[in-house]
Amino acid sequence: MSAKVHKALYAQIPSFKCKEGCTECCGPVPFSAWERDQVKIEPGKLGRRCPYLGETGCLIYENRPLMCRLYGTVPEMKCPHKCRPEKMLSSLEGRRILAKYRKMAERP
Ligand code: SF4
Ligand code: SF4
Repeated sequence: MSAKVHKALYAQIPSFKCKEGCTECCGPVPFSAWERDQVKIEPGKLGRRCPYLGETGCLIYENRPLMCRLYGTVPEMKCPHKCRPEKMLSSLEGRRILAKYRKMAERP
């Protein structure tokens, strides 16, 4: 159930190419319980901007949580380097995705 709903939300978020080697927007991000379960590696040392940020970038890219996917795709979270998908989501679309995500993330 959770997998299906998460994947359906991820599918609504357009992808785009980042500036090569950039990890500037990586920081502490929330994970839902299901997203946490997908991560099979131990978080790194405390003190890093994100415990899954390695020397060469995200160590859990395929399993990164929704907030990492949403960044750069909505007007409220624009990439400072102007990287963006061909078609940005609208504020309303972003809010709807987040509302569904939060509702689901709160489930036990
Ligand atoms: S979205 Fe922008 S700031 Fe974030 S990693 Fe990609 S290029 Fe860097
Ligand atoms: S999970 Fe990965 S993409 Fe998301 S903030 Fe951490 S290092 Fe960056």
